Amino acid sequence: MEPSARLYNCAGCYSLVAICSPCDRNNIYCGSICSGAARRESCSMAAKRYQKSHRGRLKNAERQRAFRGRQKNKVTHHSSTVIPPHAVLPPKPNKLISRAVSGYLHCHFCGKPCSPFLRRRFLRHSEQHSPPRSASWPLTP
Ligand SMILES: [Zn+2]
Ligand SMILES: [Zn+2]
Repeated sequence: MEPSARLYNCAGCYSLVAICSPCDRNNIYCGSICSGAARRESCSMAAKRYQKSHRGRLKNAERQRAFRGRQKNKVTHHSSTVIPPHAVLPPKPNKLISRAVSGYLHCHFCGKPCSPFLRRRFLRHSEQHSPPRSASWPLTP
């Protein structure tokens, strides 16, 4: 009989991690790499990193808007909606998720097989993260 497993998202790299009950010590990281990195890196560092990426995204959007405006000036009578390529691509299936769907899980720490044991709720939850369809449309005042 396989031990029951718990599925959680690593607090460091956000990857889905399966852990069997003998290994489970309320872990929140996928391994020593992430927990060690978290210990070295303070919370403020993570916040800074987030802010940086957020600002970068804003800048990118600004640049895109400026580019679109320039295009509009050049071509006045003809407009087309440009769909970003990443909006069309389906999300890459997580290796662990597909393994879990097949009904077979391995502990991330000891590698032993463990039963999925009512963790499908977790998987369904992660599937809800698809972006809303309206987000790809530019907001025009
Ligand atoms: Zn991790
Ligand atoms: Zn284990």
